[in-house]
Amino acid sequence: MNPNTKHRKCIRCEYNVLVPEFTDEQMLEILGLFYQDLKLFAVKKMKDEFGIDHADAKGIMDHLNKEYGKCNRCNFDYLEGECVECPKCKAFNFNFKMPTPFNQEFCTHLEWALDFDELHDESVKGFWCDGINHFPDDFKSLSRSNVAKTRLIKTKAWIGKDGQGVYDMTIHLGDKSIASYNAIQSLIECIPADNFKEWIAIDPQCSTIEIQLL
Ligand SMILES: [Zn+2]
Ligand SMILES: [Zn+2]
Repeated sequence: MNPNTKHRKCIRCEYNVLVPEFTDEQMLEILGLFYQDLKLFAVKKMKDEFGIDHADAKGIMDHLNKEYGKCNRCNFDYLEGECVECPKCKAFNFNFKMPTPFNQEFCTHLEWALDFDELHDESVKGFWCDGINHFPDDFKSLSRSNVAKTRLIKTKAWIGKDGQGVYDMTIHLGDKSIASYNAIQSLIECIPADNFKEWIAIDPQCSTIEIQLL
C-alpha cells in the first residue's frame, strides 16, 4: 500500500476511514465485489492482496456507496465528486465512479441493438438477446490499460429463440470505442446502427458471438 494514504473522519459514525489509493484494476475488483454484495470477499482481498489492515478494509466497505451520487446512509441523491460528506446526514461517502464504461447501461443498449433477423441467416432466425453480463468473470480485465492492449472485452450473453442459450461474447473495440473507453465515456455511440453482417458474427453451433464496435 502506498504510504501516502490518509484517513478521513466520518462525522456520522466517528470512524477514521482510510482513503485508499487504488489502481484502476484494484478499484474494479473492489467495486465489482461490492456491487455484487460480496463484501466479505472484498475485505479479504484488500487484506490479503493489497496489504490493507482489517479495520481499514472494513471502514472502506462501510463507506462505499452503491450508486454514484447517492449517500450510503440516507436518501440524499446529489453527492458530487469523490470523498465527500453527505450534507444531510454527515456520513462520509467515497462516491467512486467505476473506472470503466462497460456497464449495465451499455450492455442493455447493445442487447437491444442485436437484431439477428437482419443477418438473414436461417440458423439464427427468431433469435434474440436476453442479457449481457456486465460483470465478466475476469473483472479486472476491464481496466483501461488492459483494454488498450487487447482491444477486446470477453463476457457472457444469453441468446436464442428463448433468449436463454449461454454464449461466449467477444466485443472488439475499434478506434472510436478505444478512445471513449480510455476517457471512461459512454460506448453507446460506438454501437453500429446498420450493416449488421459487418459487426455481428454469431455461431450457434459453438455458442459464440463476436461484436465489432466502431
Ligand atoms: Zn461513517
Ligand atoms: Zn446521507
